[in-house]
Amino acid sequence: MKTLLSAIIITSITMIGYSQKILISVDMEGLAGVVTEQQLGPSGFEYQRFRQFMTDEANAAIQGALEAGAREIVVADAHGNGQNLLIEQLPEDIEVIRSWPRRFGMVAGIDETFDGVMLIGYHSSTTNKEGVRAHTFSSARLTNVSVNEIPVSEGMWAAMVTGTFDVPVILITGDDIATRELSDFLGDVETVVVKQAYGFHAAKSLTPMAAVKKIKESSKRTVARISDFKPYKVETPVLLDVSFKHYRPSEALAYLSIVERIDSHSIRFRGKDMIEVADFFVFLMEYNSSTQP
Ligand SMILES: [Zn+2]
Repeated sequence: MKTLLSAIIITSITMIGYSQKILISVDMEGLAGVVTEQQLGPSGFEYQRFRQFMTDEANAAIQGALEAGAREIVVADAHGNGQNLLIEQLPEDIEVIRSWPRRFGMVAGIDETFDGVMLIGYHSSTTNKEGVRAHTFSSARLTNVSVNEIPVSEGMWAAMVTGTFDVPVILITGDDIATRELSDFLGDVETVVVKQAYGFHAAKSLTPMAAVKKIKESSKRTVARISDFKPYKVETPVLLDVSFKHYRPSEALAYLSIVERIDSHSIRFRGKDMIEVADFFVFLMEYNSSTQP
């Protein structure tokens, strides 16, 4: 009954002219100009300036979406401490998700009311031998994350989680490797290449000004054709395999009856759907009995 009622409401909204609701997840490694940790965290000599460039790229995506008719935008700060964006520089009618831990991580806030997800400043996966700062969720702790035996990037994971809510990833910006990795996987997704990877710590980059211009144009174009994009559907039940850099996490996790240790450094978890897998993953990355407060 509730489903029928919401179906009627959704249909009526569509008929009177529906305006889109967009989630914009912003990472940092795939921004124009980012090549080393000097740009990526509070101890880096260029970090404060790159927070500005990150905010500018986010704002470009927001402006493009608004110009194409989007009316509701939520931005998720999805890098490092989750407190990078200069929030006073974002438009007043959007909302911002900050800090961790949080359900669904980099795409926190996602639910079935959204129409599309944009990934700004994303990078390639830890199993990709190319790409600036290539890693999956943690370069210090993980050497692979696979879903249904496919090694994933953070962008692919985002598409799998948001697809469960019937929401497609519609745009990714980053280096040429990260954007290609996701478009090879998804097929139709808009991409903005802001730099060409020359190695893990080197790239030929657009200037911040040029990147912002390209992102705004692409965001506008993407939202204008939003109905073309299809949500990614993960086959259920979902197998999650995680390989750790160190030995002990897999040993400790194997004490749980829901976890199978598949080799010295790797564990497997079987979830009934991607939501259960995503929740398990937040636990896995977060839990430490000495955590305070
Ligand atoms: Zn990051």
